Amino acid sequence: QTDVLSQIKDIISQKNVELLHLQFIDLEGTLKHVTVPVEKLDDVVEGKSMFDGSSVVGFSPINKSDLYLQPDLQTFAVLPWSVEEGYSEARFLCSVTNPDGTLFEGDTRNVLKNTIEKAADHGYTISVGPELEFFLFKTDEEGNPTVQVHDNGGYFEPSPKDIGERVRLEIYRALKAMGFTIEASHHEVAEGQHEINFKYADALTAADRSTTYKWVVKTVAAKFGLHATFMPKPVAGINGSGMHVNMSFFKDGENAFFDPQGEDALSETAYSFIGGLMDNIKNFVALTNPLVNSYKRLVPGYEAPCYIAWSASNRSALVRIPSTRGMGTRVELRCPDPSANPYLAFAAVAAAGLDGIERSLKPVDSVNEDIFHMTEERRAELGIDSLPGDLKEAVEALQNSDFAKRTLGSHVYEEYIALKKGEWDSYRLAVHGWELENYQAKF
Ligand code: GLN
Ligand code: MG
Ligand code: MG
Ligand code: MG
Repeated sequence: QTDVLSQIKDIISQKNVELLHLQFIDLEGTLKHVTVPVEKLDDVVEGKSMFDGSSVVGFSPINKSDLYLQPDLQTFAVLPWSVEEGYSEARFLCSVTNPDGTLFEGDTRNVLKNTIEKAADHGYTISVGPELEFFLFKTDEEGNPTVQVHDNGGYFEPSPKDIGERVRLEIYRALKAMGFTIEASHHEVAEGQHEINFKYADALTAADRSTTYKWVVKTVAAKFGLHATFMPKPVAGINGSGMHVNMSFFKDGENAFFDPQGEDALSETAYSFIGGLMDNIKNFVALTNPLVNSYKRLVPGYEAPCYIAWSASNRSALVRIPSTRGMGTRVELRCPDPSANPYLAFAAVAAAGLDGIERSLKPVDSVNEDIFHMTEERRAELGIDSLPGDLKEAVEALQNSDFAKRTLGSHVYEEYIALKKGEWDSYRLAVHGWELENYQAKF
């Protein structure tokens, strides 16, 4: 701790850091921050920064609103784009604490910490490699996002067609300067769609990085006059944006999903983990796919899953096992989208897998046929169920789930359900463009 702090102090003086942003996330995973002069560093590290919790989505009621920020020193980073006129800015990601110093139960970062602890009780560490896709849209004269994608490139298409390559290069540089290890960067299938992959890490670090990634992508895109969005399905009729979650459990430094003697070189633990995902998916999909819009992505034909099935290779399945074995053995859950709060999403996926392991579940048979083009009869024959068709159905399942309540804790569980019910109601009451187009002239 003191070592890390003295390193931070060195960087602060080398880079002439003037301001510190104390960042945390609200219930939806949205980044918030308060900025303090660097002279406050010692107070900040002691967790003395107070804020009004009643003004943050999903936090505390007005009568118990004083909350504090406890910075995680590992997340210290100088903002690459701030280095101007010899002064720069830095940030910490923080956990939220109560006035008595205990962790605040409404902070979703703390929810993930609880799941990590639960896994540790079983001897596991959780490793996560998320893949967050996004779209770049043009902006209008006022700087507001339009619905025009900024390019018409396709999968892996190089420049000059992919003018987003320049934007991705700048994002890459910013992320690298903030301590990310980047694995790959490419144009995605849909026009205007991109993906930059960073290396897997322990679950908390992976969630912190996902949060930072979304912020950096939006910040850099804005410098090019573009709007980056992690909305799951911004354009109908083309691919949406996913956040595939690759996960593995490690025990005593070994990948607990790998067993060279096991069927397909996967361990019993891996099969139970898959069983846990399949068994709990409906209980937590409102967390991995949180928006009304999320369910417009989960339809057949766009590389996003809509049926509850698993496979070693099939990209139409919900759960896929990438071919890598050994230390890289992992399970990929393909339904999550990048609008999800990564702390809640990773907590839910890990807890579901852990539940499968605790109950020694065996997954149903894998499905290696293309499920998108399967007849309803064939699906019924194979016992393949569907993911919820909309947010309402997903939130109802979450509300009826004891697993969800245990994983989230009652504060987050109740706040989340209230928030999502409100969102569904507001959507239900709105009259949409589609309705006017189809009904106004005709009736
Ligand atoms: N965009 C697809 C999705 O919605 C994924 C495409 C891919 O990465 N193969 O999940
Ligand atoms: Mg990918
Ligand atoms: Mg992709
Ligand atoms: Mg993937």
